[in-house]
Amino acid sequence: MSEASTLLKVEDLYVKYRSYWYTYHVLDGVSIRIKPGEKVGLIGESGAGKTTLLKSILRILPPQGRITKGKILYKDINLLRCSKGTLLEIRRKKVGMIFQDPLAALNPVFTIKEQMVDILKYIYKGSNYKKSDLENIALELLREVMLPDPERVLNSYPFQLSGGMRQRVVIAMALASAQELLLADEPTTNLDVTIQAQILKLISNLVEKRRLSMVLVSHALGMVRSMTKRIYVMYGGNIVEEAPSSKLFNEPLHPYTQLLIENAPKIIATKLGEGIKGNPPDYRYPPPGCRFHPRCPYAMDICKKVKPLLIKVNNDRYVACHLYAEKDMIKKLEV
Ligand code: SF4
Repeated sequence: MSEASTLLKVEDLYVKYRSYWYTYHVLDGVSIRIKPGEKVGLIGESGAGKTTLLKSILRILPPQGRITKGKILYKDINLLRCSKGTLLEIRRKKVGMIFQDPLAALNPVFTIKEQMVDILKYIYKGSNYKKSDLENIALELLREVMLPDPERVLNSYPFQLSGGMRQRVVIAMALASAQELLLADEPTTNLDVTIQAQILKLISNLVEKRRLSMVLVSHALGMVRSMTKRIYVMYGGNIVEEAPSSKLFNEPLHPYTQLLIENAPKIIATKLGEGIKGNPPDYRYPPPGCRFHPRCPYAMDICKKVKPLLIKVNNDRYVACHLYAEKDMIKKLEV
């Protein structure tokens, strides 16, 4: 894929968190790319590093988080090197993010109108919009996310709205700045199953209508499959597989992807999966070699020593697993 056809490119990204006593080695050389208009899924268990990756893109990691290596290119702008002004402009006008928890994303002591107008003031800084113009834009955004009685919602406090309504407000706020790319981080957490499907459908329609690119993080694997064209699978701070969405589900290659899909909760199921045996890695002391080796049913000696690289296994599929590496490549890696 040429640079020109890439909207966002993350290259070999390393992120660590530091606490008083420990260093947590979370992202471990992550690379992803997104073309204009492309919808990409990011799946994996909780704690795999998905939120850290999305927050790194917008440079909104908490103070303990540090990007220690890598590149994040938005078109041809390196977001790790650009001026603060350029970064703010991208956050205001180009890339929007839907956060996991709508209650945490909304301030309980201000009305939706006050909060939306505040955000719109920031987005339209320098324009001639009056407060009433911004209120009209806010109202339009609430209509766009199909909220019934948007005037009432605009004048409400968050606690006066249901979980699904609050999440629609959060989506409206993200849309205000997402003119090119939407980062949707578990947009249906804490919502009941029927509302989850409605919210994901709404996001899918809005992304289509506005011709946005999207990175969707969700545990609703069936929805990720239907809403995206390509999926990255993350485990322990690494991308372990990348494939077109339908191929990934029909024929998962990486042992972790196989277990993740096998154990996904299904609405129609004779028996629910029991989850993948073992625990995700402790980021203070991540396992050497393949971070999945303590849980992998196929682990070999090499897996405990050498980190598998993400290699192309055919035209559109990539996997990071020694089972797929050529024998001579394994030898080369062992040297
Ligand atoms: Fe399993 Fe080894 Fe492949 Fe890791 S590299 S997934 S431990 S077979």
